[in-house]
Amino acid sequence: MSFPDAASLNSLTELSSEAATDSNRSAAPVHFGFQNTYARLPERFFSRLAPTPVAAPQLVKVNVELARSLGIDPDALSSTVGVEILAGNKIAESSEPIALAYAGHQYGYFVPQLGDGRAILLGEVVGEGGERYDIQLKGSGPTPFSRRGDGRAALGPVLREYIVSEAMSALGVPTTRALAAVITGERVLRETVLPGAIFTRVAASHLRVGTFQYFAARQDIDGLRTLANYAIARHYPDASKAARPIRALLDNVIARQAKLMAQWLMIGFVHGVMNTDNTSISGETIDYGPCAFMEAYDPATVFSSIDANGRYAYGNQPRIAHWNVTRLAEALLPVIAEEAGSEEAAVAAANEALAAFEPQFEAARLTGLRRKLGMFTESEEDAALAENLLERMRVNGADFTLTFRRLCDAAGGVKNDAGVRELFTDSDSYDAWATKWRQRLEKESITAEKRVEAMRKANPAFIPRNHMVEAALNAAISRQDFHPFEELLDVLSRPYEDRSDMARYSVPAKPEERVCQTFCGT
Ligand code: AMP
Ligand code: MG
Repeated sequence: MSFPDAASLNSLTELSSEAATDSNRSAAPVHFGFQNTYARLPERFFSRLAPTPVAAPQLVKVNVELARSLGIDPDALSSTVGVEILAGNKIAESSEPIALAYAGHQYGYFVPQLGDGRAILLGEVVGEGGERYDIQLKGSGPTPFSRRGDGRAALGPVLREYIVSEAMSALGVPTTRALAAVITGERVLRETVLPGAIFTRVAASHLRVGTFQYFAARQDIDGLRTLANYAIARHYPDASKAARPIRALLDNVIARQAKLMAQWLMIGFVHGVMNTDNTSISGETIDYGPCAFMEAYDPATVFSSIDANGRYAYGNQPRIAHWNVTRLAEALLPVIAEEAGSEEAAVAAANEALAAFEPQFEAARLTGLRRKLGMFTESEEDAALAENLLERMRVNGADFTLTFRRLCDAAGGVKNDAGVRELFTDSDSYDAWATKWRQRLEKESITAEKRVEAMRKANPAFIPRNHMVEAALNAAISRQDFHPFEELLDVLSRPYEDRSDMARYSVPAKPEERVCQTFCGT
């Protein structure tokens, strides 16, 4: 990857802060080694500003392993100075803070200017493997993009993003990560008054479909071209060698989104706000708001309080991802036309690229279902067999995660069927399907032991069940008790391992515990 020269602004800017943290550790220097390639792009791509200091920052959590993998000393990050940086009270050496400009379709309606209304990019760090990551504060105060918002975040949504993004990572799904959470010592006003917090996010980048839409909407073709080249250099360097690099960029983004949708569906994830500004160019899951995991299998599952029409329902997500990448293709048309020779050729190229979404998604989904069902080979009947199980799960209200986890035991023999059977209101419905499943598995010479082992790696025992997430958030907000949050993080860090001491995290909510709605809390 070749990038413009890194920052020359190396001054350590101290912002006014009378507030002390209660972390009494030594004020070790925090070395991020920030590079600022985005801040080298034209000034109209962002706004330069520092976070707004907060009253009394306190550390909630530092992600020790993640910090290490990024070459950041977790102890320094947890020190008084570290917490001041995480709270936005101090600017780290080598950081050039900026708020990024972007646009986006929200629930299908285009908003020409959104942007980081409550987030600030501190800079980029290069990880162990040479990959570049953005470090961003979320909830760090108002910016020129705040519109009517206060630029702040409440503790609940910050902890939710921490928990769910780390769970997604452990489940093996591309995602932004949680580096830290701090409370601000200030209150934020939402439906009620809530404790304020700041989340530190790590992302492959914060380029979104909406970033391209921002320049397209302004007919800023130079901006589009610059952005496309930046995205190629940062995420798809091979595309620069293609005969038509921008078409190759589009192909790559489409492929990543198609695969990501299959990964979401395989674990029952519902994003909740798949607006084009929440669709990452790198293919990571980004902007966790009213997200939640489905329990009883039903493609119509919706949690978000503001998604009244089910636009972003579990089963609708692939269709929406396709819609979102179609908006990317539209935005890129002027620069695809430059390399394709004409507008007509650009439209044909974009349509060709978009046509690849569905087959790529379907192939990834079928591969995923085969893994979940313990199939090592491919057979014509597999798709129908998988669909048939899903339909029976829907009719019988079977818990998605537990059905597949218990199928791992069932793969060991009929004698182990009881666990799955009891998840179906009509257990006979499971039996009828299982007979066909076993006939299919008999076509493979693999041992039952091997199959069970492989299936346990494809079907998690633990997902962030909504009532457990809610309980962890409530304990933190109402009692300043972070123990449930820590325990949940621990369980979710190894989602494919059975842990008898943590069994209560693996079962669905009882009817009275069920969480049917989530709120984005912005
Ligand atoms: P989100 O729903 O979090 O993806 O945010 C959509 C847009 O609203 C983005 O431009 C955010 O920066 C902005 N936004 C969300 N919450 C706030 C807030 N509390 N203050 C200012 N801007 C916000
Ligand atoms: Mg967003």
